Amino acid sequence: MQYHSTRSRQVLCGSKDAVLKGLCPDGGLFVSDEILKASVDMKSLMDKSYEEIVYAVFKVLLDDYTDEELKYCISRAYKGKFETEDLTPVTGIGDKYLLELYHGPTSAFKDMALCMLPQLMSKALKGEKVMILTATSGDTGKAALSGFQDAENIGITVYYPYGKVSDIQYLQMATAEGGNVHVAAVRGNFDDCQTGVKKIFGTMTEEIKNKYNVSLSSANSINVGRLVPQVIYYIEAYKQLVKRGAISYGDKLDYIVPTGNFGDILAGYYAKLLGLPVGKLIVASNENNVLTDFLKTGVYDKNRDFIKTISPSMDILVSSNLERMLFYASGCDCDYVAGLMKDLNEKGRFEVKPEVFDKLREVFDCGYATNEESKQAIAKAFNEDHRLIDPHTACAYKVAEELHTGNKQVILSTASPFKFAKDAYESIFGALEGSASADGFAYMEALSAKTGEKIPEALASLKTKEIRHKDVVDIDGMADFAVKCIEG
Ligand SMILES: *Cc1c(COP(=O)(O)O)cnc(C)c1O
Repeated sequence: MQYHSTRSRQVLCGSKDAVLKGLCPDGGLFVSDEILKASVDMKSLMDKSYEEIVYAVFKVLLDDYTDEELKYCISRAYKGKFETEDLTPVTGIGDKYLLELYHGPTSAFKDMALCMLPQLMSKALKGEKVMILTATSGDTGKAALSGFQDAENIGITVYYPYGKVSDIQYLQMATAEGGNVHVAAVRGNFDDCQTGVKKIFGTMTEEIKNKYNVSLSSANSINVGRLVPQVIYYIEAYKQLVKRGAISYGDKLDYIVPTGNFGDILAGYYAKLLGLPVGKLIVASNENNVLTDFLKTGVYDKNRDFIKTISPSMDILVSSNLERMLFYASGCDCDYVAGLMKDLNEKGRFEVKPEVFDKLREVFDCGYATNEESKQAIAKAFNEDHRLIDPHTACAYKVAEELHTGNKQVILSTASPFKFAKDAYESIFGALEGSASADGFAYMEALSAKTGEKIPEALASLKTKEIRHKDVVDIDGMADFAVKCIEG
């Protein structure tokens, strides 16, 4: 399968190169025209294991990896890292289903992809080494640290804003284990971290390559190696429902997806292209509902206030993976996509033509939840359906209630409620007694005591883990820190 940019076909490469490069030199995202003609024998996967489904899908989408390499990657990605026997259990919530994507090492769905990406990267390397640089506002950093822990020939350096992450997020990063992981707190905010990392990429990539034979790379959500592992659980959920007789093979399922960067839901589109009987893919946004507006009007406009919500991982105004969907919806028209992205860059908005809009509406529906509605949804799920859900999942739960097509509904549940224990607790029970002095653990414990749900081991154990990373650097010191990590 050949990959090229969403914005041109000038450079063609295999999936290994796409995984290593992440982003195309022209700023576009790696896509393949061939996925439109590709298929997987879905019916035959209905009695296969999660790992066997990974293999069947990767064999098609990442076809320049050898069988041996794929098996190596699959054997290392998930084993021993998940709390549940099924990696992604499907459970009931009222008359709907929850696809639980949060039983991995950091209790959030980004683990599904970040457990696999490092394996795919290490098998794509040809003798050189890689240093991953990542700026994080809190959550992605830990998932990346955990995924890359002890990866072969790859190191990772994470920068987070000093004093501006939650106490639990701080502990998750400061206690990260692995001989190849590095963490620095930066005296600045998240934007400073991100700008600092971009500057290192922009000014030092060549020097570091020449001096140390180390390539700089990133692990962000536009990488093909993050997208492809997310296709699997759409198939896995379908399989589980067929197995227990909730649906028959061939019935259509709607998937409702808490959406920010559009990576998760795009993977659902890939599953549909490969032959999974998908009904509607439903985008659920929070108050930053730029995508909902786009899917209702055909106009994408990021010129609006950025709202801080209780579902921070969806607080996004530029949804980068949407570019891939625009590519497919336009009939693989690179020039057209390049034009839209130019408009977005220059004016902060673009409008799609009617054919593209119709194609998008054929595949997607959408809705959103305000902060208040998310809180009400958490309370309703608990009080009426006896399920504890996190604020991201709550947006999807609210939207699922509104949009019934007649198909069975699967809500993608993207984080453990214990990662957002304060908001989950207050939504259901109101203010915690003695809350002025309550830390993250106090909220987790109170939530667990009142609901009878168990705190995930990975979060509970943070209390007693050794603090391994204590470096605090100035914005100007970020580059030196990276070099120090590379020199080991
Ligand atoms: C990242 C994230 C999302 C959004 O996923 P996208 O792929 O960016 O659309 C939703 N929920 C949680 C908990 C996340 O961490």
